[in-house]
Amino acid sequence: MAIFTKNQQEIATSIESESKLSHWLDWKWQVKHAIKSIEQFELLTGIQFSDKERKALQKTIDHFPLSITPYYLSLIDKNNYQNDPIFKQAFADIRELHISKDEMKDPLAEDHDSPVPGITHRYPDRVLFLISNVCAMYCRHCTRKRKVGDTDNIPSKSQIQLGLDYIKKTPQIRDVLLSGGDPFLLSDSYLDWILTELRAIPHVQVIRIGTRTPVVLPYRITENLISVLKKHHPIWINTHFNHVKELTDSSRKALTMLADAGIPLGNQSVLLAGVNDCPRIMKELVQRLVKNRVRPYYMYQCDLSEGLSHFRTPVGKGIEIIESLIGHTSGFAVPTYVIDAPGGGGKIPIMPNYLISWNTNKVILRNYEGVITSYKEPSNYKDRECDRNCKNCNLELNIKEGEEVNAIGIEKLLSDSNDTISLIPSNNERIQRREHSND
Ligand SMILES: *Cc1c(COP(=O)(O)O)cnc(C)c1O
Repeated sequence: MAIFTKNQQEIATSIESESKLSHWLDWKWQVKHAIKSIEQFELLTGIQFSDKERKALQKTIDHFPLSITPYYLSLIDKNNYQNDPIFKQAFADIRELHISKDEMKDPLAEDHDSPVPGITHRYPDRVLFLISNVCAMYCRHCTRKRKVGDTDNIPSKSQIQLGLDYIKKTPQIRDVLLSGGDPFLLSDSYLDWILTELRAIPHVQVIRIGTRTPVVLPYRITENLISVLKKHHPIWINTHFNHVKELTDSSRKALTMLADAGIPLGNQSVLLAGVNDCPRIMKELVQRLVKNRVRPYYMYQCDLSEGLSHFRTPVGKGIEIIESLIGHTSGFAVPTYVIDAPGGGGKIPIMPNYLISWNTNKVILRNYEGVITSYKEPSNYKDRECDRNCKNCNLELNIKEGEEVNAIGIEKLLSDSNDTISLIPSNNERIQRREHSND
């Protein structure tokens, strides 16, 4: 595929009679001319809706706004748009307004685990930092649909400063995940400022950026952006490809520039009904990603956000997909399948079962082909008692600066240095009865 297809030239000319390749390749031109109305969409694609459909669609985008970059629009297959994965991710569906009782505005409770606006501190050593609430394209399956187009909520410089201050005064944060919105919709100089501030914090070891621009706005990856990013290594980037159709010449070029800058690339897909809920599509996608130096990182079960019910698949579909990948293709092409726990418990990995049974002597396993095998446990393994004081241990770990974090969760139950024997929900009725009888 050429970098400026005939279809793209036509779209560019309809937007501006003087269409030039240099406009098309300019990311700001793409953002400025993002398609935000149904009429514009019809005009540029030639797809026509009935009056009734148009009314219902208008109601939908009044609630959940529309924005499609001309580039992403140009990938839509006009002749079969109802089945097109690009169309489904980009264009409104009237089913978005059927909000089921299981759905929530903020299913991951990101706004609850938030010490300062824009920061979600959910895990011990890392934070999610929302630094932008603009996106080039509004994905119809966005988990933060509640915030899309919310112009009252654009993080100001002083709000970002509050986030930076929180990170500065919280030494256990060693990994900062910049997201939004899309951080790459910010200007190079603004990003440079945020990255410089973060890099000046000694305990911040890794900075990660979540961006969908390589998919929906590949021209955003410019030489100048690359030179900004390179100053602040180690930078990791996660992007968001859901379908093979999105891996165009332009997006591959963007990935090459990022990978050549020494940035490890990961991909987070969302399992979406009618888009990629197919083991063959997913296998092709992960293999093509790896070919482009992108490591499939997560495959998400679709969240319980409002307006996403038509995108949700059963968990069984995800397990079936993972079953078709593990063993069948390169290990590093297999993403971790996760459900982000409703209510804010974080990401929970889901796997097919490979461990069939065990006793103190042997473990019984099955492989991807269905072969059942046994693994003999060692007979002379000596466990070390661990009091979390590495000085007394013969394993040569001498983390002088390694701060001692208390074990939590299941790790706590497994540890030698903590005598907790069970984890009990705080509102457990049986325990509450005990407390009463002690009164
Ligand atoms: C996903 C996520 C992270 C990062 O999790 P990893 O498993 O390290 O990729 C951090 N904070 C929040 C709130 C998240 O949702």
